[in-house]
Amino acid sequence: MEYEGALAPAKVNLTLAVTGRRSDGYHLLDSVVAFTDFGDRISVMPAEEVTLAVDGPFAAGVPVDEGNLVFRAAQILRQSVAGREGAAIRLTKNLPVASGIGGGSSDAAQTLLLLDRMWETGLSRTDLASLALMLGADVPVCLEGRACRMRGIGERVDRLRLPECGIVLVNPMVPCSTAAVFKRRDGAFSPMPDDLPDLSTLSGLCIAVDQVGNDLLTPAISECPEIGVVLASLEGVPGVRAHGMSGSGATCFGLFDDAATAKRASDALRTAQQAANWWVHAGVIAGD
Ligand code: ATP
Repeated sequence: MEYEGALAPAKVNLTLAVTGRRSDGYHLLDSVVAFTDFGDRISVMPAEEVTLAVDGPFAAGVPVDEGNLVFRAAQILRQSVAGREGAAIRLTKNLPVASGIGGGSSDAAQTLLLLDRMWETGLSRTDLASLALMLGADVPVCLEGRACRMRGIGERVDRLRLPECGIVLVNPMVPCSTAAVFKRRDGAFSPMPDDLPDLSTLSGLCIAVDQVGNDLLTPAISECPEIGVVLASLEGVPGVRAHGMSGSGATCFGLFDDAATAKRASDALRTAQQAANWWVHAGVIAGD
């Protein structure tokens, strides 16, 4: 029996507004989310029990038990269909961990989709989205896997048309705890309009990236000053059209006209930062 596999792409918050906070402490967000053409890889194969093996360049330290969202996704799906089937799951971890690009959430979403097919659960897309939300705020948008506006605690996901363009992700490889960043945030909330401007051209998207920005940037830089260094490097790289930080950091992004320009920029950043040990990756975000 062969493994069936899927890409679990990096999730990039091109804009991120914190619009409020619920009485239970959950923050309400409004974010333009894009997905890259690179990421982790999830493979599944029929088996008696659910098992997980993790390999790849960022496998070290990633949990292989219930602490892994992939494992939890398999369990939650299995319980919801009272299934007895298992799956041998393999996760190839290519994305840096706890870095604001939703690696765990994207892995979980692809696990749900692959196992839903393999186990022929018959669940609707709405059922899957509810399970996804139980796994984490970013999992429903990762279930879509394409450009979306994400709102609320992650439950409101609407497809968006973004331009196809080049992207470079840069992570300074220093930990930046999401909880610590939210704790440092003390600004007012940022209301967002019901209707977004046209983001289907790169110019329109870049204006939104510059104007809306990321409400977690200031607290993230206080928590992890290297983010400021990464952003300054991205700002100075040839061909960059806009730049910003994803999620609660520390991964930052630059947008470019096309894949080739992004690749040249990533080469330049890598050469300049050889000693700094940054993770730098170029690719594209797919439009719709
Ligand atoms: P987000 O952008 O959604 O906030 P993130 O990129 O900051 O996510 P993840 O890479 O998903 O964060 O990892 C967050 C934590 O979740 C890690 O500390 C890790 O121990 C745990 N974790 C659970 N499952 C996974 C997984 N499949 N891949 C990576 N980390 C995982």
